[in-house]
This record gives sequence, C-alpha cells and structure tokens, in this order.
Amino acid sequence: MTHFKQKLSNYAKIAVEIGANVQPGQILHVRATTDTVDFVRLVVEHAYRVGAKRVDVDWSDDSITKLRYALAPDGSFDEFPEWKAMERTKLAEQNATFMSIISDDPDLLNGVDPVRVQQQQKASSEALRPFYRLLQADAFSWTVIAAPSVAWAKKMFPTLSDEEAVDALWEAIFKTVRADEDDAVAAWKAHDATLHQRADQLNELQIETLHYEAPGTSLSIGLPDGHLWTGGSSVNKSGTRFMANMPTEEVFTVPHRERVNGTVASTKPLSYNGTIIEDFSFTFRDGKVVDYHAERGEEALTQLLETDEGSRFLGEVALVPHDSPISNMNVLFYNTLFDENASNHLALGSSYTFCLEGGKEMTVEQTTAAGLNESLTHVDFMIGCATMSIDATLKDGRRVPIFREGNWAFS
Ligand code: ZN
Ligand code: ZN
Repeated sequence: MTHFKQKLSNYAKIAVEIGANVQPGQILHVRATTDTVDFVRLVVEHAYRVGAKRVDVDWSDDSITKLRYALAPDGSFDEFPEWKAMERTKLAEQNATFMSIISDDPDLLNGVDPVRVQQQQKASSEALRPFYRLLQADAFSWTVIAAPSVAWAKKMFPTLSDEEAVDALWEAIFKTVRADEDDAVAAWKAHDATLHQRADQLNELQIETLHYEAPGTSLSIGLPDGHLWTGGSSVNKSGTRFMANMPTEEVFTVPHRERVNGTVASTKPLSYNGTIIEDFSFTFRDGKVVDYHAERGEEALTQLLETDEGSRFLGEVALVPHDSPISNMNVLFYNTLFDENASNHLALGSSYTFCLEGGKEMTVEQTTAAGLNESLTHVDFMIGCATMSIDATLKDGRRVPIFREGNWAFS
C-alpha cells in the first residue's frame, strides 16, 4: 500500500469509527458531492465492514447546483422538498448516524443573485428545523468532514496544477485530521481528552463575562447562568460517543444573547453560501448587531444578518489558541470547518442547547428565557490573532486572564 493510500484508509476509518461512530445494525446517511466519489466509496465500504445495516448517500453536484441558481425560475427558491426534510428527521428518529463530506468551492455561487441563495438557505433551514432541533440536543450522532474538490484545491493552491493542488489539499486534510498518525484512532482519543480537560477548567471558573482586546476588537460577551463549555466528542441520546467535526480544536459555549457589547473585527475571510466575505466588522449593543461593514462581500453579509430576528445576535463563543496545529500550517482553507479551528471565533445565529445545563430537555421558550439565541442560521466567523488578549470576570468578582498574545494564559 502506498503512503497516500494508507492515510486515505486511516481517514475513512476515523470518519466512520470516531466521527459518525457507526454501530452494528445502524443506518449511515452520507451527504457528499460528485467530486468525492472515490472517497465516499471507501467510507461506505468501511461502514459496512463495521456492521452498518444500510448506507444511504445523498449526492449533489456543484455544476448542477450552479445551473439551478442561474436558470431556474424566480419563485422556486423559497421552497425545499418536504420529503427530503422528512427523510432526515425520520432517520434521526430511527437513531441513524449522519456524515456530511464537504468539498465546497469557496467561490461556487460568486455572481449568483444572493437573494436566491438566501431564499434557498432559509427555506431549507425552515424545512429542516425539526432535524436541527434534534441535532442541537445531541439526539443522534453526526459528523462533518471534508474531502477535496479541484475548485477548492485550486482556490487554496492557485499556482499548482489541478492534480498537484488536490494532492496538496489531501495532505493538508490528513494532517489536520491526524490521518497521518500511525494509530489515528489512539491519536484522536488523546486529543479528545485534552479538549475535554480544557472545557472542564473553563467550567470550574464560573465565568460571567469575557473581555476581548485585539486590533479592531474591543468586545465584552456575557455568558448565561448554567452555560457549559464543551469540546471534542459528544454523547448522543443512546449513550454513543461521536465527533461532530473533524478536525476540531475548539472549546466553545453559548453567549447570553443580550449581553454582548462593543466592536469585533474579522481576521480571516468567511466563505458564506459560496461567496467570500472579507475584512468585516460588527458593532453590538445589548447583544444585537447595530452596525457592520465588509470590504468585500457586504451584500452577502447583509443577507446573512437579515435572515431573521436571531441572525443579528450571537449563538456561539469558541476559543482556539493561535498557536495550534491548523493555525501553524499557515494556510487559509477558505472553509469554516478548518479556518474556525485555527482561530478564536464567534457565530451569529442559533445556540447549541447542549451548551446549557439541562438545555437538551428544554423547549425553545425555556432556552430563550435562559439567554440562548434562536435563529434559522448559525455561521461561525474568525476573530483570533497573535495579539488577542481575553480576560474573564468571574461570578465571584475576580478578573482572570484567559488568553494572552493569542494563546491560553494558563496551562
Ligand atoms: Zn465553532
Ligand atoms: Zn459553530
């Protein structure tokens, strides 16, 4: 076996056994694009080998997606097939496990009418609301991983040939997901333990408010009573462990939707719905974005903020040291799965209810009353840098350093 084949096989193994954690007799639902057929076949084979009852693959094709946005009639973007939404909710209720293999061309929908894209985004989020509610409560296992498409690889490595660029992106992915380790499963277990330990330390502090300082950023974020820091693997309703994102380097929790004040500047471009938004900033007052600006992609940013009432409020606070494996690779992936794991970040939109004590069993009214945000959208954006400092005011009134010079202030 060549070295590449070994790493690819390691990757399929950890995607199936650590990410989706397919159990004997379980259904695996895979979403993927036609750019990644060979890798998907490997995943499917591995899933059957560990005992999957059935593997369903929901394919999409970037060219066909583009054709639709260019040629389909107006008025066809505010609907989403009901059966498609039902399929996923039904499978979730049957305790299936879900894998998304993303390969997004960061510029795919560049030039497409952003109103069409946003309409479709909103329609699918609305149709899939019951599914996402289950997902946010850890009802079932799911994982998001990535595989290269030529377009994505060329965006990252524009001077290489198609083939070289895809190879380079594979190598970058292998490194970030630890598929280059001899025992990738053991490497993930050790990494998972480190993330859980970091989350425990933050939970012990009982933080009331975080204070961020960096060039272009001066922001305070209040955390709700009962917030829980979390990172690494989660445990679903049936007690099975799964890894929602591979890679993952973050520990994160929920902000209090009304206790965010100040200004924050982005430090990496954001690929949102196939358009790149760059050099942007937000000003918050009592939790709400009251002012914003983007050097590039401001129209897409406006569409994002106008999704609904909750899209102007934060739903996630995540900490990732500047000196971390993905960040140290010094490549920009133009893909949030990777870029968010190289940087402190925040998300506009909905909160994960599992980040609140008892939140998984609460109704929307209850989580809202506790300070969590509700929205059809959830979009992470990167704010970390080498000079960022973060302090925390604790419930007992003490002020302690959390980040200095972009990294953890304590070991
Ligand atoms: Zn995140
Ligand atoms: Zn997020």
